[in-house]
Amino acid sequence: MDDTTSKLAFDTDWQYDPAPESTDHVRVDDQYELFIGGEFVAPKEGRYFDSINPANEQVLARIASAGKDDVDRAVKAARKAYETSWSKLKPAERGKYIYRIARVIQERAREFSVIESLDGGKPIRESRDIDIPLAAAHFFYYAGWADKLEYAFPGKQVAALGVAGQIIPWNFPLLMAAWKIAPALACGNTVVLKPAETTPLTALKLAEVIRDAGLPPGVVNIVTGAGDTGAALVDHPDIDKIAFTGSTAVGRLIQNSQAGTSTIYTLELGGKAANIVFDDAAIDQAVEGIVNGIFFNQGHVCCAGSRLLVQESVADEVVQKLKDRMETLIVGDPLDKNTDIGAINSAAQLEKIESYLQLGQDEGGEMYQASGSVPERGYWCRPTLFTGVSQSNRVVQEEIFGPVLAVQTFRTEQEGLDKANNTPYGLSGGVWTDKGAKIFRIAQGLRAGVIWANTFNKFDPASPFGGYKESGVGHEGGLHGLDAYVSLA
Ligand code: ADP
Repeated sequence: MDDTTSKLAFDTDWQYDPAPESTDHVRVDDQYELFIGGEFVAPKEGRYFDSINPANEQVLARIASAGKDDVDRAVKAARKAYETSWSKLKPAERGKYIYRIARVIQERAREFSVIESLDGGKPIRESRDIDIPLAAAHFFYYAGWADKLEYAFPGKQVAALGVAGQIIPWNFPLLMAAWKIAPALACGNTVVLKPAETTPLTALKLAEVIRDAGLPPGVVNIVTGAGDTGAALVDHPDIDKIAFTGSTAVGRLIQNSQAGTSTIYTLELGGKAANIVFDDAAIDQAVEGIVNGIFFNQGHVCCAGSRLLVQESVADEVVQKLKDRMETLIVGDPLDKNTDIGAINSAAQLEKIESYLQLGQDEGGEMYQASGSVPERGYWCRPTLFTGVSQSNRVVQEEIFGPVLAVQTFRTEQEGLDKANNTPYGLSGGVWTDKGAKIFRIAQGLRAGVIWANTFNKFDPASPFGGYKESGVGHEGGLHGLDAYVSLA
């Protein structure tokens, strides 16, 4: 594109026609109960909360809030299922059930995608092309392992752990449920899962799939509620394994509560990933990767590339191209197929992001926000970047979980690495260069669990995911994901 055409593309006032995904095929009930022992049951204390569509602030459904007694019922159902049916089934039979879940998710993919976008605010393009296909892919992948565990751990006696308590966040609701349920079931465990309070709907739809797939009652139980429901699950004495994905603060609480117990736990926590862009990188490709890494999905990704470290000689060019690209990003209706950036997941999360925008400016950073319009109702944040920030700034150090990028420069490879590693987190990172040797040096030097080279935010069920330092303990995905749900002798 020469200068004139590029200017034209950004200056003209044209817009895409709306292309909303149809919602006719989707059923959302007014009220959802807890899924315990293969049935939907009312919560003992009769408490409910609302799940809200963050794009218009309307109530989507009333959701049961599980108290301690309900969590206890769910754990008992899971224990019974573990002892009487699931651990006694032939592994190949377990595999068949998991394949069935995968196939039904695939068949109902459009329905799942729309509900994910309604409940969580993410663009339909993302839920349709990433969340739901990957969720099905995880069930397919782990179904395949169910009767091959002795090949996954050659020479070992492999046994299930028992009952797994699993707590998931709101950024990839169905996908996180799949990450956790699929390997647990493949290894012969039973499950009590607690979805996040702002995005419970696809997990409850998954409960319907699990019931319809004929899994023995109690193999998977789903208890909805907020942090106190999660805490009741974590503190339950009959849980053998805890798997948590969420904030580092809650992860720390869980770690402390488990000290001195025999419960095994894995924690997938926060991140503050750096994308390191060298002057020999394909710049346009890198800019697209940076945009994908932090702006798509509203930055609601724990492995989001929320920091950009760009080599000084190309910094001006990269930042200008980023700003130009940010101007073209469409913020708005999550169900519109043109939308790049959907709604922020909740009012509380928007407030947190906005407090960081203020803080970044108070700290002396220069803030740039795309100028496009956002809808009046709902929770929205325009793509934002900060320049003129340094290592000690909180917008550089802390996880914001919004479409906010902190930009810093470096001169030498070592300086880039040092800056990238100088955070309490170590979940992911990215490197952009055309030199293979440099990719290997940076990948070796980065203290992060997942590193992408000349791409970003790519996932596959066969590859492990997990972090160093305050980003967590243990891995999910691939063989590592099985390891978290077995005992080996
Ligand atoms: P986020 O900031 O992403 O919402 P949280 O860590 O608060 O992260 O939430 C992740 C999950 O942990 C949610 O399902 C939430 O309800 C649950 N949760 C929150 N507090 C606790 C707690 N004290 N113990 C167990 N689970 C909790």
